[in-house]
Amino acid sequence: MINTNHKIEFSTEKCVGCKLCYKACFVDVIRWDEANKKPVFKYVEDCEHCFVCQSVCKREAIVVVPDFTSEHFQQTFEQYR
Ligand code: SF4
Ligand code: SF4
Repeated sequence: MINTNHKIEFSTEKCVGCKLCYKACFVDVIRWDEANKKPVFKYVEDCEHCFVCQSVCKREAIVVVPDFTSEHFQQTFEQYR
């Protein structure tokens, strides 16, 4: 577990169930609800704030909101100093 505090805002009304976000997420944050044909953001604490899910969604149904104060975010920057 990465343990981030990022948030993911999801609009079920805008979502058309194309599954692109589910296929795009390289960690296990997004699962798929086959019954409702919608993504389920299950393990948000593992989100790497890569914005790929938000980028691939042509319906603008996903907004990733990084927590810039999180310890994980600061560690990510530290390694490039
Ligand atoms: S990419 Fe967007 S429209 Fe497609 S399943 Fe994900 S949220 Fe829904
Ligand atoms: S921002 Fe990246 S890591 Fe986070 S849920 Fe979206 S695709 Fe997965």
